[in-house]
Amino acid sequence: MISIRLPVAALTCALLAACASSPTPHSPPPTPPTVLLLSIDGLRADMLDSGNSPNLSRLAREGVRSVGMRPSYPSLTFPNHYTLVTGLRPDHHGLVHNAMNTDELGDFRLSDRDAVRNPAWWEGGEPIWVSVEKAGYKSATWSWPGSEAPIRGLQAQQRRPFDENVPLPERMQLVLSWLEGAPDAVKPRFVAAYMEHVDKAGHKYGPDSPEYAAALRQVDAAVGMLIDGMTADGSLDNTNIIVVSDHGMATVKQDQQLIPDDMVAPEIARIISFGQSVGFAPQPGKQAEAEKALLGRHAHYECWNKAQLPPRWHYGQNPRVPAIVCQMDEGWDVVTPSMRTKRTPGNSGSHGYDPALPSMQAVFVARGPAFAQGKQLTAFDNVDVYPLLTRLIGIPAQPNDGDPKALEQALREPSK
Ligand code: AMP
Ligand code: ZN
Ligand code: ZN
Repeated sequence: MISIRLPVAALTCALLAACASSPTPHSPPPTPPTVLLLSIDGLRADMLDSGNSPNLSRLAREGVRSVGMRPSYPSLTFPNHYTLVTGLRPDHHGLVHNAMNTDELGDFRLSDRDAVRNPAWWEGGEPIWVSVEKAGYKSATWSWPGSEAPIRGLQAQQRRPFDENVPLPERMQLVLSWLEGAPDAVKPRFVAAYMEHVDKAGHKYGPDSPEYAAALRQVDAAVGMLIDGMTADGSLDNTNIIVVSDHGMATVKQDQQLIPDDMVAPEIARIISFGQSVGFAPQPGKQAEAEKALLGRHAHYECWNKAQLPPRWHYGQNPRVPAIVCQMDEGWDVVTPSMRTKRTPGNSGSHGYDPALPSMQAVFVARGPAFAQGKQLTAFDNVDVYPLLTRLIGIPAQPNDGDPKALEQALREPSK
């Protein structure tokens, strides 16, 4: 259910490092520490204990970490990144899948730059950088999903589009320059940066592979660069750093792939989205046949009419959700026939499975003046990150699905 969160007008000094001395009646209100939100795409929660991320472990030791953060349904990249910065379930913000099709807008694909930059896909939510800019403060984004489109007319003042060819050290240098407030010395209130390396290795080699662990070491080293740079310029202890992932990663064995024809003939239903949360649109006049072929439990998946999906997924009301949704069992994928033929031998990895599965749990680590030290948090839903962000930044929250109390457990001094 969407509930209206009232503006957090009076931030407690407990959240603000700059509150060390109380403001006099004539002094301007203190500026909250910058919030730096980093995403490590596809990092499964238990990987934090794998010994491959000394810098994340340091942040956790000096701050807080969660045993796991539940992604929203479907556990895919774009839906969950947009949830993290809006507090809305995908069904409510409208990025209901990485692959969508509507009569009005046509196809949405991650590889289609025009689609990714078309505000019409994103307008169902207001990402936090837009709210920060609206409030008259600065923000900066390195390729967070949604950041390339002007949403409700606004984008982060400083931003870069998604470009896999930009090496991590270069990205981190840019983030550091943003944190310093260059070139006008006005620090942004909110900076977000995204890293795809762990997800890519996870898909190709699976989450138990040495390559997945090596990608984590690579990304962790980038986090280390940031920490070193922030230590050198003195900003580390005046920044609230939050590191998240969007979902985990599960192993897909060699032969665990279906093609759409294994499920229903294309003359009966058109496939809208491949993968693990698989959408079908019945062909005109073929609704009953499509339902007969698809609905119910099958050997490796289960399908529902969109209105009958399990309530715990909060999914199926949005017009962009296809009429029939099939959820693959953990470790099973639906791919195109050519993808199945070209598949390299051995295990690979996927996500998009039931958000309740241990393999889908995401990461949450946070360090800074607002956060408790050395504390392990119980699992929570990723919609709860947004009200924490607005509270730390000191701006009103938009209507959202998060619980502002859920992350009180993370704070150094929870509000009284
Ligand atoms: P997926 O694993 O299908 O959920 O999507 C993750 C992939 O999306 C990453 O490995 C990136 O290659 C790609 N990606 C991430 N951000 C963007 C973006 N802003 N624009 C286009 N592609 C992106
Ligand atoms: Zn992802
Ligand atoms: Zn992925």
